[in-house]
Amino acid sequence: MSRVWNFSAGPAALPPAVLERARDELLDWNGSGASVMEQSHRGKRFIAMAAQAEADLRTLLAVPDDYAVLFVQGGATQQFAQIPMNLVAEGDSADYIDSGHWSAKAISEAAPYVKVNVAASARDGGYRRLPPREGWQLDPQAAYVHYTSNETIHGVEFHDIPDVGAVPLVADMSSNILSEPLDVSRFGLIYAGAQKNIGPSGLVLVIVRRDLLQRPGRPMARIFRYAEHAANNSMLNTPNTWGWYLAGLTFQWLLALGGLGVMAQHNRAKAEWLYQAIDGSAGYYHNPIEPGARSRMNVPFTLHDNALDAVFLQESEAAGLLALKGHKAVGGMRASLYNAVSMEAVQALAGFMRDFAQRHG
Ligand code: PMP
Repeated sequence: MSRVWNFSAGPAALPPAVLERARDELLDWNGSGASVMEQSHRGKRFIAMAAQAEADLRTLLAVPDDYAVLFVQGGATQQFAQIPMNLVAEGDSADYIDSGHWSAKAISEAAPYVKVNVAASARDGGYRRLPPREGWQLDPQAAYVHYTSNETIHGVEFHDIPDVGAVPLVADMSSNILSEPLDVSRFGLIYAGAQKNIGPSGLVLVIVRRDLLQRPGRPMARIFRYAEHAANNSMLNTPNTWGWYLAGLTFQWLLALGGLGVMAQHNRAKAEWLYQAIDGSAGYYHNPIEPGARSRMNVPFTLHDNALDAVFLQESEAAGLLALKGHKAVGGMRASLYNAVSMEAVQALAGFMRDFAQRHG
């Protein structure tokens, strides 16, 4: 069996150690004689595993006690709507920072539930830089401020947590959560789809300051209400048991590696290696993002002649480098360098790129 170097933007590469462990205990999990997918979420084995996963996540991110951690479903996309449903009252407005494709989606999906104020936007510049903090038109009365800490498609990332004063800060961290240590206490709510740095798709992590659970929000079914999920340990209905289990294995893998400080060093080194390969190619490859805003997780790049795109994709795949095709919104290529992507994979990619440039100069 041979595994490819996988640069998929998501669902993305999972750590081989996690997959091997899942394989080894697939048919007989935890001495139960059945797989984890075949058991009640109300059983004591599952409840213990779920609690351990939450405890491990709390350790990794040093989540303060006054925050609830939820393991829910519906993708990050459902959160775009669920956040305003829960956090705003009739007539409230919320501030949004438009830094790329996903923040624009968050804005359009929130619009039926809250008066959206786009406090800053980088759209005019083609989302090649972050909107400078000093230009943000924030409303001190806003119900919250929403931003996307890493734009998976455009490849821009906030390297600092923006200061927004007393208004709760809400972040879509789908594509950079767990990539480095994080000061959770700076946020009102953090959410992330699992399929990049956490586990398989179908699971969403929500970390929410408990006082925000008291907000009445809009009239809604219980399934949408964070307070209900928190009160029921994310078992208001049947959770994604398989996703939760794999997330738990990923958290253990991260802890065994030494935690998020160690992971941050790996991630920085990987990104530097790839950006150097691009910047050092004498214009053969190009990344359009302002250097200070470049993402460590998603690196879009173009070839000097886009007539070579198809050949690049064909040859890279033949060389065992998977999923380098860029998103159609920006074209070209994209390499995603999430936690489970090794330095070895990045070096293989950079080596291939150098070789390709020589052969197709
Ligand atoms: N936000 C970001 C930053 C994303 O990268 C994605 C998906 N790639 C989403 C939201 C949407 O996630 P989902 O498909 O899980 O709804």
